[in-house]
Amino acid sequence: MSQPHSLPKDARFETRAIHAGQGPDPRNGAVMTPVYLTSTYAQDAPTVTRGGYEYSRTSNPTRTALEENLASLENGEWGLCFASGLAATNAVMDRLVPGDHVVAGNDLYGGTYRIFTKVFQRYGIEFTFVDTTEADNIKAAMRPDTKYVYIETPSNPLLNLTDIAKAAEITKNAGTAKLVVDNTFATPYLQQPLDLGADIVLHSLSKYLGGHSDLIGGALVGRDEKLREELAFYQNSVGGCLAPLDAFLVLRGTKTLGVRMDRHCANATKVAEFLAESDLVDRVIYPGLPNHPQLRIAQAQMAKPGGMLSFELKGGVEAANAFASATKIFTLAESLGGVESLVEVPPSMTHASIPAEVRRAAGLADGLVRLSVGLEHMDDLVADVEQALEVAARTAGVTSNL
Ligand SMILES: *Cc1c(COP(=O)(O)O)cnc(C)c1O
Repeated sequence: MSQPHSLPKDARFETRAIHAGQGPDPRNGAVMTPVYLTSTYAQDAPTVTRGGYEYSRTSNPTRTALEENLASLENGEWGLCFASGLAATNAVMDRLVPGDHVVAGNDLYGGTYRIFTKVFQRYGIEFTFVDTTEADNIKAAMRPDTKYVYIETPSNPLLNLTDIAKAAEITKNAGTAKLVVDNTFATPYLQQPLDLGADIVLHSLSKYLGGHSDLIGGALVGRDEKLREELAFYQNSVGGCLAPLDAFLVLRGTKTLGVRMDRHCANATKVAEFLAESDLVDRVIYPGLPNHPQLRIAQAQMAKPGGMLSFELKGGVEAANAFASATKIFTLAESLGGVESLVEVPPSMTHASIPAEVRRAAGLADGLVRLSVGLEHMDDLVADVEQALEVAARTAGVTSNL
């Protein structure tokens, strides 16, 4: 089993990303953490294990390495890895009993909204969806039986930001509630919710942490040991654990997270600035643009604005669909956070499971286009956006005043 390096206490993010939870194998010096493709582990006597491993649903050394790595990156005490981001959300929700209440953002990932309203609402869990960009809305929705405040910041796909520290304060003042922050869009490189008072950080590892669009996974990170025990109980009991090979792939991904995020941010800034100047575009939403409605929050809690942006074209849905079909480098596909640039139209793709009136009420226009800006050369990306905008304008009969 690999022996974690004894890292200096003050080792920085990039150093921990490469070494935390991992170290050369003591038997043969293998530098990379082995992929422990095993379901079970030899014991020396009944109940006497070699290193605490009994069965890989409960724990597996490759998964342990990733859990320790993610705990370090989020400045947490523990990590738990799941078969998907939604399996991680499921484990969070498994702690609740009928009658418990959750205050959730009204602009969550479509699959999160679906598991809340189509699965857990049936079990008697109650939800209040609010615009969490205004902390007062969270406060007003709190009830004595509120067990979670569940937020996504930046949100998907509108890139709305919630003040994590304020949300944490409201949650703590409300008694037994816990603050869950979906940190998938920002990643721990740009934002550390536990330091701002969150109780649980949630990730879809399928996105930036994996970073190469080659796996599905999820994670929870926190500090409180009792909470870890409860969540690990549900992880083991429900069984949605991350497979060893996928854990290895995420470990490979996190090693380069810092350099990837720097470039994602630089490329997204360039594309956002180009779109903001175009008269074929109505609105660009990017936490790095001066007109972002929560710019102050972005500057306070994010190191950089991230690699995701959304925009509305002149010409509405028709123009949006034409744009998404006309890009040559941006691939039309769901998901985000990989090295390759992706484009999608959320209302008909990732967010189709949210009813149209609920979407529109949350400010999600039918013609919104979302970009996951990848690591290709920024000039190629801008040129691709430019030619697709022209195709979209022609298709929708929009004329430029240039
Ligand atoms: C993708 C995503 C999820 C769900 O993760 P899966 O790995 O697809 O199950 C949750 N939250 C956000 C913000 C996401 O983008």
